[in-house]
Amino acid sequence: MRIGQGEDIHRVDEGRALVLGGVIIEEGPGLAGHSDADVLIHAITDAVLGALALGDIGQHFAPTDPRFAGADSADFLRAAMKMARAAGWELVNLDATVRAERPKLAPYIPHIRQRLAEIAGVDPGAVSVKAKTAEGLGAVGRGEAMAATAAVLLAPAG
Ligand code: MG
Repeated sequence: MRIGQGEDIHRVDEGRALVLGGVIIEEGPGLAGHSDADVLIHAITDAVLGALALGDIGQHFAPTDPRFAGADSADFLRAAMKMARAAGWELVNLDATVRAERPKLAPYIPHIRQRLAEIAGVDPGAVSVKAKTAEGLGAVGRGEAMAATAAVLLAPAG
């Protein structure tokens, strides 16, 4: 089996739409970034690439590459999962945590899990997403940023 971990952080940008786990969260605030700035998908994609020992998201989808301006980050996760399958691995489970002071994410978690499962091509039961605040501490706690961490387990495809 292979284990992978990923993390990411993005600055809050009130002028952009908030996209987390492939779900548009209307109440925002949004996040700054070259792509759609989906901090959760970026952390998960890095975890998958890490499990494969294939570098990181920036190497595969460079933030300087104009092709990825405003990109749907779901495409990054789909591509990483394609690499995993091509190498003979399947996703056993993923577990992720998003840190945001606002909005309150609990009501969105079921939809985010469903959407991530669709994107990754796995059962929603294999996808865990947790949301926490930063208790007012640091950049996340001041509402200046949102962060995410993720862990994935891959096993030989059966
Ligand atoms: Mg990112």
